Amino acid sequence: MGCCDAPGLMPLEDAMDKMLSRIKPIQTTLRLPLAEALGYVLAEDVLSPIFVPPFDNSAMDGYAIRLQDLAQSSTLPLAGKSFAGQPFEGEWPLGTCIRIMTGAKIPEGCDAVIMQENTQVTDDGILFTQTDVKPQNNIRPCGDDIKQGDLVLAKGSRLSPRDIPMIASLGISHLTVVRKPKVAFFSTGDELKPLGEPLADGQIYDSNRYGIKPLIENFGCEAIDLGIIPDCPTKLKETFEKAQSLADAVVTSGGVSVGEADYTKDILEELGEIGFWKLAIKPGKPFAFGALSNAWFCGLPGNPVSAVLTMYVLVQPMLAKLGGNTQWSAPESIPAITKTAFKKAPGRTDYQRGIYTLENGQFVVETTGNQSSGAFRSMSLANCFVVLERERGRVEVGETVQIQLFNSTLY
Ligand code: AMP
Ligand code: MG
Repeated sequence: MGCCDAPGLMPLEDAMDKMLSRIKPIQTTLRLPLAEALGYVLAEDVLSPIFVPPFDNSAMDGYAIRLQDLAQSSTLPLAGKSFAGQPFEGEWPLGTCIRIMTGAKIPEGCDAVIMQENTQVTDDGILFTQTDVKPQNNIRPCGDDIKQGDLVLAKGSRLSPRDIPMIASLGISHLTVVRKPKVAFFSTGDELKPLGEPLADGQIYDSNRYGIKPLIENFGCEAIDLGIIPDCPTKLKETFEKAQSLADAVVTSGGVSVGEADYTKDILEELGEIGFWKLAIKPGKPFAFGALSNAWFCGLPGNPVSAVLTMYVLVQPMLAKLGGNTQWSAPESIPAITKTAFKKAPGRTDYQRGIYTLENGQFVVETTGNQSSGAFRSMSLANCFVVLERERGRVEVGETVQIQLFNSTLY
């Protein structure tokens, strides 16, 4: 069985291909101090201008020796010291040793460092109790970590907290990065109330903007919040126009499901070219994508789980491409054994919300409970998606399913 059992529904992979094939990465770059570059995408390769470490240095607190001296005597008088930032200078007489600390430069001619735990201080000098000393013992050679000219990070990488200190170790103070994509977003619906005001009959709080904004930011984009817009053609049109004048992409929630789509469609058709899709995924079936005259458009379904899910699954790769991030990859799936049953009917790929744990080296997963697309607690409790294949039906306890661990954008 395939998607043809659900006529008219577009497989997720097709939707992704259609979106990604149209997106061209932003070309505008900026030069930023390293400390401000976290989360930006590199617009250039980073090559190391130096060797790291830049000189042979000691891995231990101890004594620098020559092996030939140690072969003559196990006790060597002290001739000087080499501390971090204060290298030993001058002549190093034969038959002596040099006190050396971790990170200090290895003196010229030194074969090895013996750690201080393997020595004793005596009246005649330092007594070395370690006998089997190998050349280069406890010496970290110049360029051991990174060689001059090495490619340390490729253009198109998004800078993580692990990258920044490595680049700092190369002495690079500024980086050329891609300007962050600007994403304007708003919620649509007459029933939506802002937080801090009591609900009137038939109203609910607008929670979607609180789900969408952190995701935009975690995807490495700049978020522009345009608030709640009622289901009013004039207001909607005005807001779309404003949004596309401010941003590279416009994300809305609500107004794309059957019944509301026609209404939004009329407005959007005036402003650009938009496809209203019915995706073979659950939740998140209604989804719109296309181009306004001046920005990309993604219309998310209004149900809170659907909104966050389509944002994560579809909008995330789209914004990664727009932002020049060529290293982005979809979260990987791993097999897990079910500890609870999962309700499912064939027809759509189901992204149920699950909680995985590791039991005796095996991933196991249980449901978060109520899987309604309006029940956001199922997202809040979860740490993974249980991705159930299109053609699959109900899953019983003990079956193997694929789980997709949340990536860092959902933490
Ligand atoms: P729609 O896609 O506009 O038909 O909305 C589908 C469901 O999601 C309805 O129950 C809406 O009330 C709800 N919904 C729409 N927008 C939001 C929002 N911003 N926050 C919370 N729920 C919403
Ligand atoms: Mg609505």
